[in-house]
Amino acid sequence: RFITFEGGEGTGKSTQIKKLADRLTAARMRTLVTREPGGSPGAEIMRHLVLSGMGKLLGPEAETLLFAAARDDHVRTVIQPALNWGAWVLCDRFADSTRAYQGSLGRVPMGLINAMQRVTIGDLKPDLTLILDLPVEIGLQRAAVRRGSGTPDRFEGEQLSFHQGLREAYRKIAEDDPGRCVLIDANSDPDTVAGRVWTALRDRLLP
Ligand code: C5P
Repeated sequence: RFITFEGGEGTGKSTQIKKLADRLTAARMRTLVTREPGGSPGAEIMRHLVLSGMGKLLGPEAETLLFAAARDDHVRTVIQPALNWGAWVLCDRFADSTRAYQGSLGRVPMGLINAMQRVTIGDLKPDLTLILDLPVEIGLQRAAVRRGSGTPDRFEGEQLSFHQGLREAYRKIAEDDPGRCVLIDANSDPDTVAGRVWTALRDRLLP
C-alpha cells in the first residue's frame, strides 16, 4: 500500500507519518517511511540543491525538472522496491506537491507537469493521500517554533498570500480526486489528528 501525506508548511505531516508508522508497525505491518524531495541518496542531493539558496538560480521549469529527477530516483530505488516487497510505504509529500507548489503557485504549465509525471511515476498512484489542512497563520507559527533560530527554507520564507494560495491548491486537489484524497482537519492536538488519519485509513484501506 502506498500512502502519501500532503499539506502546507507546519501542518504536521512528519509528526503524523511517525504516529501512523508506529501504529502500523505495532500491528506487525511492514512499514517504510520516506519523504520528498529526497528519500534516496541521489534525491537528497537534489533536495539540498533546490531548498538551499541555489534553487533561486533556477527558473521554475528547471526547478520542476530537478524535482522530477529526484522523484524518478526515489521511486525506482526506494518506493517501488518496498511496494514489491509488500510494505506499507508512507511518503511525506509526493506528486501533489509538484502540482501545488510548481503548478498552481509556480505557474509551471500543467502540460509539462503531467508529461514529467508520466515519465517519473508512470502508473504508480497512491492508494490514499491524506491532505493536512490548517489555517496558514497557525501552520507558519508552528513551522517557526520548529525552526527555532534557524533560517527558513526558501519556501517557508514566502509571503502569507503564497501560503494561502497553497492551502487553496491542496483543497482543490482533494476536491478533484475524492477517490484517492481525504482532507484532514489538522487544527487539533497531534493525537486527535492521528485519530482522524487512522479513521480515514481504516475506512478506505483496511478490510
Ligand atoms: O516537507 P518539507 O517541508 O520538508 O519540504 C521541503 C520544502 O520543499 C517545502 O518547503 C516545500 O515548499 C518544497 N517543495 C516544493 N515542491 C515540491 C515538494 C516540496 O516546492 N514538489
